[in-house]
Amino acid sequence: MGNIKQDFVKFENVDKSYDGKVLVVKDLNLDIAEGEFLTLLGPSGSGKTTTLMMLAGFETPTNGEIYLDGSPISSIPPYKRGIGMVFQNYALFPHLSVYENLAFPLKVRKMDKVEIEDRIKRTLDMVSLSEFGNRMPAQLSGGQQQRVAVARALVFDPAVVLMDEPLGALDKNLRESMQYELKSIHEKLGVTVVYVTHDQSEALTMSNRIAVFNDGNVQQLSSPSDLYESPSNSFVAQFIGENNTFTGIVKEISGDKALIQTDSGETIKAKAVSVSSIGEKTNLSLRPERVMINPENDVENHFECEVKEIIYHGDHIRLRVNLLNNSEFILKIRNSDKLSDVSTGDKIKLGWSSSDCRALD
Ligand code: ADP
Ligand code: MG
Repeated sequence: MGNIKQDFVKFENVDKSYDGKVLVVKDLNLDIAEGEFLTLLGPSGSGKTTTLMMLAGFETPTNGEIYLDGSPISSIPPYKRGIGMVFQNYALFPHLSVYENLAFPLKVRKMDKVEIEDRIKRTLDMVSLSEFGNRMPAQLSGGQQQRVAVARALVFDPAVVLMDEPLGALDKNLRESMQYELKSIHEKLGVTVVYVTHDQSEALTMSNRIAVFNDGNVQQLSSPSDLYESPSNSFVAQFIGENNTFTGIVKEISGDKALIQTDSGETIKAKAVSVSSIGEKTNLSLRPERVMINPENDVENHFECEVKEIIYHGDHIRLRVNLLNNSEFILKIRNSDKLSDVSTGDKIKLGWSSSDCRALD
């Protein structure tokens, strides 16, 4: 890791407003390491595409500066930034063959014929399309067209590749296989990728790190596992994966643990993640797979409740129960014979460890 530039791409205090009033990106500070696969993840309208467009050079920051490999880029036009781009709607040239589509960025860069041929061959091989050079885009499937778009973004050896929801138009199976393909291309080339998606499972699968966007702000910047296991606020906890939530008031704090009185009057011991004072309101957040049936005595939180619904999912089973005024409380249990004798209407004992229940702001 020693020689890798940790701030190969750098956003420094970047604001963006389209109308001179509302900031759609607010004081963005973000370092992207050389060779990293970094994903901007967030709901629609949260500022992801705007951030990418500023890096590409199609939009200008209202304040702040963006640096590429140490140099400010605001005065460099898009085509001189050495950045490849892939969009959701392929944007291939429809009247050019696959080969000519790939040749385009190389001719713009005035490469010689031999080098152009060599690069196109290598790149088409990489996306498993070596037999397709003579096809027109309309003669390809959606997945193949998107592989051509990826090849075209990579063929000139860009320093950075930007991808904005590139798999959004593909069906689920194809999208998943393309996720693996893009990830393996990234690993092979070691190119820096800045990827945009609103799909959390796609972000978790592909990224080295994820920046969670909401309303023009980065809410959390972490590895996929940290984001899932240790969300730092309730927006991130709700956005990534599934959660049971309760609201309550902080009654006691000691070390990293807190006692919370829920709105229904029960006491829950939780991990004090972003609460610091007695009397503070908090959102508790608990993953369905962290809830245990018939927990051991040393598990801090114990409750009894009635099973409302049992939903079979093959590899796991979901139980819906009514707990502490939450009628949508979900348990996710591995499919094992432990559950074979539970039916709707049964009373069960359940519980969870304080370290799995996060008290967030
Ligand atoms: P995302 O990609 O996360 O969905 P965008 O960056 O596209 O979000 O949009 C962020 C906000 O900026 C939205 O409120 C959107 O309506 C607004 N916006 C995006 N592009 C433009 C534009 N060209 N002119 C004016 N407003 C825009
Ligand atoms: Mg967008």
